Amino acid sequence: MNGRTLPVVATRYAQARAIRLKPCAIAGAVKISLPARGGVREAIDLLESHRGWLAAQVAKWPVAVPFVHGTRLPFDGGELLVDWDEARSLRVLRAGDRLLVGGPAAGVADRVKRWLLREARAALLPETQCLATSVDRTLARVALGDPVGRWGSCNARTGSINYSWRLILAPAWVRQSVVAHEVAHLVHANHGPGFWALVAELDSRAGESKRWLGRHGRGLHLVGR
Ligand SMILES: [Zn+2]
Repeated sequence: MNGRTLPVVATRYAQARAIRLKPCAIAGAVKISLPARGGVREAIDLLESHRGWLAAQVAKWPVAVPFVHGTRLPFDGGELLVDWDEARSLRVLRAGDRLLVGGPAAGVADRVKRWLLREARAALLPETQCLATSVDRTLARVALGDPVGRWGSCNARTGSINYSWRLILAPAWVRQSVVAHEVAHLVHANHGPGFWALVAELDSRAGESKRWLGRHGRGLHLVGR
C-alpha cells in the first residue's frame, strides 16, 4: 500500500451480517469484520477491489511520532523537541520548548512517556478537583490510561474519573473540555438535557473541542508509537 505492507486483521463477529473493511491508523492495519462463519473468499475479493480506496485512506493517516531524539511532540497546545544526550542525567527535564533526556538510548521512549504521564496527572488532577468542588461533588479517584475509543470516562457512583494520558498532548482548552464533560457526569450519569446544560455552564467551548478532537485525535494516538 503506497510502498508499505500493512497487516490485515480479521475478526469474526456473531452479529456481523456484511463483511466490512476498516483501515485503522492506530493499529496500523486493515481490519476486517467477518460473520461467524465463511466469508474469507469474499473478504479477499473485497480487499482486492478496494486497493485504490485503501491506499487513499492510508495516505491520509497521520504520521507516527516516536519518542526518539529529534522528535517534535505536540504538548499542551505547543511543541516540545525531544533532545537526547546519553551523558545527561536520567531525570527528564523541560527547558523551554526542549525536553532534555539522558541515559541509554534503549530507555529514552519509556522515560519520555513517564514524564508525559506525570505532566498529564499534574494538569488533570487539580483541574478535575477544582471543577468537582464547584459542582459540589466529591472526587474519589482520577486515573490515567490509554484507551483508544474515548478521552475520558466517569463512574458517578464511585466518584472516579479516568482519562487518556494523551490529553496532555492537546491544547489546554481541549483537555479542560474533557474534564468538564466528565465532571458533569459526576452529577448526571447520562447525556440528558440536564447534563448538557451543566456542560454548557462549565465549559463554553465544548463543541469546538469535540471538533478539535475529531480532527486531531487520531494523530495524538500515534504519538509514541
Ligand atoms: Zn459523556
